[in-house]
This record gives sequence, structure tokens and C-alpha cells, in this order.
Amino acid sequence: MDENRYIQVILPLRLDWEPYYRVPEGMDVAMGERVKVLFARREYSGVVSCTGAVPTTAPDKILPIQSVESGLPRIGEKEIALWRDVAKYYLCSVGEVYKAAYPSLKIQSEETQARTRERLEARKERLREKILRARRDETRQRYREELEQLERGETTVGNGSFHPLSDTQNKALEGILKGFSAGKTVLLNGVTGSGKTEIYLELARRTLAEGRSVLYLVPEIALSRQLEMRVADAFPDVMVYHSAESGARRRDVADKVRSAPATLVLGTRSALFLPHRNLGLIIVDEEHDTSYKQDSPAPRYHARETAIMLGIRQGARVLLGSATPSLESLYNAEIGRFVKVDLKERFYTGDDAALMVVDTVAERRKNGMAGSFSLKLLAEIRRTLDEGGQTILLRARRSYAPAVQCTSCGHIRKCPHCNVSLSLHRHPDRLVCHYCGHSEPYDALCPDCGGALTALGAGTQKIEEELAAIFPEARIARLDSDTPEKDEAGIIRAFADGETDILIGTQMVTKGFDFSGLSLVAVIQADSILSLHDFRADERAIQLFEQFRGRSGRRGKKGLFVIQTREPDHHVFASLEGADECERLLDERRQFGYPPFTRIVQLIVKDPNEKRADFLSAQLAEKLRPVLPQGAVTGPYAPAVDRIAEQYIRHIRIMLPRDRQLTAHKEAVAACVSAFEKERKYTGHIVLDVDPA
Ligand SMILES: [Zn+2]
Ligand SMILES: [Zn+2]
Repeated sequence: MDENRYIQVILPLRLDWEPYYRVPEGMDVAMGERVKVLFARREYSGVVSCTGAVPTTAPDKILPIQSVESGLPRIGEKEIALWRDVAKYYLCSVGEVYKAAYPSLKIQSEETQARTRERLEARKERLREKILRARRDETRQRYREELEQLERGETTVGNGSFHPLSDTQNKALEGILKGFSAGKTVLLNGVTGSGKTEIYLELARRTLAEGRSVLYLVPEIALSRQLEMRVADAFPDVMVYHSAESGARRRDVADKVRSAPATLVLGTRSALFLPHRNLGLIIVDEEHDTSYKQDSPAPRYHARETAIMLGIRQGARVLLGSATPSLESLYNAEIGRFVKVDLKERFYTGDDAALMVVDTVAERRKNGMAGSFSLKLLAEIRRTLDEGGQTILLRARRSYAPAVQCTSCGHIRKCPHCNVSLSLHRHPDRLVCHYCGHSEPYDALCPDCGGALTALGAGTQKIEEELAAIFPEARIARLDSDTPEKDEAGIIRAFADGETDILIGTQMVTKGFDFSGLSLVAVIQADSILSLHDFRADERAIQLFEQFRGRSGRRGKKGLFVIQTREPDHHVFASLEGADECERLLDERRQFGYPPFTRIVQLIVKDPNEKRADFLSAQLAEKLRPVLPQGAVTGPYAPAVDRIAEQYIRHIRIMLPRDRQLTAHKEAVAACVSAFEKERKYTGHIVLDVDPA
């Protein structure tokens, strides 16, 4: 019998096995090739994961493959090995990881070239400026040569411009290299403005010089255009990769990664699944950022953990960087799994922005508030405007108002499909659900009693309106997820160029930007950030506030950071005053058995029928309890938002000790859920989320 006759195939489905197929006479397939096959009467493109298989299924039940997709590149063994690692860790199927790694691609070819051309032009423009500004002849000459080279179309990796490292940066670099030699993942804890990026670029340069590739991960690319430019200055051939890029662009990057001897990719978490070869270094910048965790669909992976798995598979060194590392990583450094390198000296900025916490309850009592603003903050904005400086205001809720209420019957308008209040958006006036996207016209009348509806609270839109009324001469812009994507870059550029005085926005405005004219940053209603019902709420708030504070006062001037809150004594603010809250937070986690001292597996049960959601989630929890350590299973319980898009939601939380049994326990959870789904014919209702964000 021909050895190639039976193969196993990974299908892009949630299947816990890899089905067998027969290879017809005259056809030839190899490991990693893509084949068209039928499964449950539908056609799929699968990956050959095993040739010469000995089927355990009856031979007459085994279908032949339809065809071999000869035009597609073969998938490497290391890639498949990574999928298996991810599937095992995140309790999903290998097929689900394959589907994430190879989404079906649509082809739009010109865009790639347009983007590259745009970047090249921008780079030339910056060089021309540098030539004009250069003080020394040699420097000017160097820029000139570089420009001529670009104009001749000659670019090679690593031929760009580098800043020499300071002594402090060099010392950190040594520490990182020492950690790498010891075979450890390194955590670079560097305050904002300490020049972490220069260290990343230097390490990238060295790795590329060794002939090995570099993967540089960032949480979100749209907000990292400035970084993209900086990396492109050093490495003109850098390739940008993220899931919103066109299919053609992504395939282009994948082809280069597969074939070029050494590449540099700047990308978001999905870049982890490129067909990496010969990877020498993985950088995970802003490692604490929650955007690194994929919520949905499976694989619900975290880029930090997956980068470490990829590093092991590729023999690559892994560097995590942050100004506010996650407790997870700090703990890993404490137990010696990571090496921590500190970079405390600021290279580009002055001191931390001064902190002013404004008690909005007390201010209101003494008539110190005007709408959403305290008079104290308004005075600072006025001063900043007068001095020609810039301000960014953070309000964590987009919309005009987070809710509307009837003034006669008190009824709060809710989404017909979710258990949440509808937000009011103006221009045009609509009520919108931020969970399911439901949207309806708004006529300001109560549908129950005909009474008048009134807006509750203030979102970014209303803040913008209030501010425009107070400072009619100021140039004000807003940036949140209601901003059309095509306008984002323009708004950021206008602010960077000083054409806007005040920028208002959601969490987006705290990330990645470097504005030299920014001297005041302020949080309106910090309470919505502090009051999240999650054991990570404090950690997240500290990270967000520190990151935001780091945006101001760059380039020498000391900035000001104002926080308006109803809870000025909240211990999160102690951390901003310089207290080391990490130890306290870690102690708290240890005491209550939360991560990083345990691992959480969250089961999410969804059902359009509320009674069935209650009943079956309770049944599932009962099945799980006996197979897991005592006390590991909590729930089921209804989360704060317990109905989304017609689905009732119940959570079961499993907290597992981080011991030798961990993998076995996780597998027991997966097996139990899978058996339950089959027994109750309940497939598709249960989601497993490992290390939920
Ligand atoms: Zn009413
Ligand atoms: Zn809804």
C-alpha cells in the first residue's frame, strides 16, 4: 500500500480531532500542504498534519481529498507546533488557531504599494527637514547621502538612522543581553521617556546583523503611527502587519517573512502567526496592555504568553517592555522566570507631571463646579491656552450621555436586546447600544408615558460641547471610537502640529502619542475607571493613569495631571503620588488566591432562554466540581451585563493553583465541557476563556 494513501487534516473548525482522508491514485501530498476536502458535506481548505497515517476510522468511511491547493505555500512544522501549543494552553482546537493564522484572504493589490510609497515620501520629507536643520556639516552630509540613496531607490534593512544610546540605556542593554544569555525572557521596566524604543531598535539592529528576523509587537497599530515612523527611520524596510490590513498586504508580508533571510515586522498580536523562519528576537512593547488579549473568537490568546511559546519554538529571545508592567510579569520576575531590568532615568522628558486630585463632591458643595468641570480644572485649561500649550482630556465614555431617563415616570431607556442602558448620541440624535450596536432615532419622548426624556451624565460629545461654550476661541477636537477611521490620523496630526488646542477622547488618547506641546492632561469623572467590578480594576486604573500622565510635559517642561473624582482618597491615587502599590496589590492577590498566584479559566454560558441558561450552567458547574480541587469552581453567576444581543449570560469561574497539576486540571475542564456539550446537545453555547482579561 502506498505510504501516502491516508493523511490527517487540520480543518478551520472547533474539532478536537484531525480527520482522516484518502489520497487518490496519482495525487501526491506533503506535510503542511493545503488540501480541499469535504467535511459534513461542506468544503474546507485544510492543512495536512500527518502523512502516512494509520486510520482508526473504518476505511470505507474515509473520503478522498478533493484537490491539492498547489498555489499556496506550505505551512512549516514549527508553525503547526505553535498552533498546538496555543490550542493546548487556551483550551481551543488546533483548527481554530489555524483559522486565526490563515483567515480567508481577499485580494486588493495596489494598496500595499501605495502605503510603502506614502511612507517613503514621508521619510524623504523628514530627511529634507533634517538637512535644513542640521547644525554640523558632517551630519548634514550624512542625511544628504541617505536622501540620495532613498531617491535612487536603494534601501536595505538597518541602513537608517540610529540615536547613540546613553550610558543608562547601555547599562540596561547589558542587563537585557545578560538575561538573554541565561535563556530568560527579559522584562524591561522603563519609565515613560526613558528611551525604551532606542534599546529595542539597537537590539533589532544586532539581531538583523546576525542574519535573524525580528518581530516587534505593539498593542494597536492605528495609534502607533508615530512609532511606525520612528522604526522606519532606523529600518526603512520594516513591514507593518495587523489584522485590519488588506488581505493582499498581509499575504505580501507573509511571503517576505517566509522567503527573505532576515526581516523586521512591526505588528499587532496576529503577527505572531506569520510563517516565521529564523526568528531571533520578539519584542512585546507595552506588555501590560489589554489589547494583547483576544476576547473573541477562539483562540482567546494573549500575545505575551504566545510570544513566549513562539520564542521557544523558534529559539528566539523575548523582550517585554512597559512603564507599568503587569503584575503577572512582575511576579514572573520575582520567582525568577523572567529577568527584570529597570530603566529609571528619563532621557527625553522632565519629571513626572505634577498631580492634582480634585474632589468633585466637595467642589460641587461649594459651587466649585461648572457642568462636568471643576473651576480648578477650567483655570488650568485657561492658563494652558494663554501660554500657548495644549491639553488632552480623558473621559472613559463615548457618546453624548451614557443614559436617558424619563422625567415623569423615571424609566431609563434600555436596549431591547441587552440588559444595558442606551447611550444618547447627537448629530444626528440617536440612542445607541454599545454592546450589540442597536440604534434607534431619538425624539426625547418616553415611549411608556409620553413624558420628556433627559440625558444622564456626560460622555465625550457633551464634554466637547460644554468646553466649546466655555472657551469659544479654542480649537477643540474629539477622538473616540465614533471618530471615522479615515479621520483619526488627521486629528492626531493636527494636534501634533499644534493646530488644535484641546483634544477630548476615550482611552485612545492615553496611548502611544508623543506631543511636544502637551502640558496639561486631565481625567473627567475618573470614577467610571475606578469602579469596575474586577479584581484587576486597580491595576488597570494605575496603568491607564500612569500612561496618560506620561504623555504630558515631554521635552523638558513639567506638565500637570488633573484628576476629577468623587473618591479622592482611593488608594489608586496613592500609587500616583509615588507609593509602591505593586506589593500591596500582589499581597491582596496572594491572600485571595487570584492570578498571578492562580490561573483562571472562565466558562461563559450563553442562551437565548434565561431559564435554560440558569439550569444548564448550574448543571455544568456541578459536573466540574468533583473533577477539580475543592473550592476551585465558583458560580454560575450572572455578570454585571447579563444579557447581550438576545443571549443570557452566565459565568462559571475556575481558579486553579499554579502547580504541576495545572495542565491536567485544565485538560479536565476541557474534557468535562466537551462531554457535557455532547451529552446535552449543547454545542455552541459554552465559551472557554483561559486567563480572561
Ligand atoms: Zn415615562
Ligand atoms: Zn444591545
